[in-house]
Amino acid sequence: MEQAVPSSPLEIVRSRIASAARIAGRKADQIALVAVSKTKPAEAILDLIAQGQRVFGENRVQEAQDKWPAIRAAHTDISLHLVGQLQSNKAEDALALFDCIHSLDRASVIAALGKAQEKLGRKVPCFVQVNIGAEEQKGGCTVAELPGLLDQARDAGIEVIGLMCVPPADIEPAPFFALLDKLADDHGLPALSMGMSDDFETAVQLGATHIRVGSALFGSR
Ligand SMILES: *Cc1c(COP(=O)(O)O)cnc(C)c1O
Repeated sequence: MEQAVPSSPLEIVRSRIASAARIAGRKADQIALVAVSKTKPAEAILDLIAQGQRVFGENRVQEAQDKWPAIRAAHTDISLHLVGQLQSNKAEDALALFDCIHSLDRASVIAALGKAQEKLGRKVPCFVQVNIGAEEQKGGCTVAELPGLLDQARDAGIEVIGLMCVPPADIEPAPFFALLDKLADDHGLPALSMGMSDDFETAVQLGATHIRVGSALFGSR
């Protein structure tokens, strides 16, 4: 039988995920594709929804508050993930809007989210972001801070499911993905949010459970 040639960006990304998973002996359905729609208009998002995509990511709370309530009113089965930095004063807004938070990275944010959970009576699964390349000016906790933050999150009643990273640009990402996988393993955490448009196949081969893909789906920003 002839194989259909994938045509849309979404089909192409899905088939690349499936190939990478096959090589690694994994199942493609173990990998959540988070379509990162930051800076993109509602039309582009609706186009992907029409093609069957249901998990989306945004990197700013304010932008998501502007764009998503209208889309979600019409599509109630969307899962919306916060992939960008969270400020303590936005924790409550973020919790009200998002279904998953990938970017817990410091004590003040964890404390604010814990309080917001109690106030709103709502919990969402979260990742702790690790500054895996120890880069200045980059989000994420240090490897040394990680155990303390995980303890703090547990005490605050936050459901941490895994670790997230954005490895340094312009170098081979595999060692950083492997290190994140080891850290998650050390702490008994099942989920790994890693891999973006340029490196998601490598991430899938190294155990990613959530890949965050923007430009490969929506075009460049
Ligand atoms: C923008 C963004 C992505 C997606 O990046 P692409 O290179 O466009 O795939 C993934 N993760 C985070 C945290 C982002 O801010």
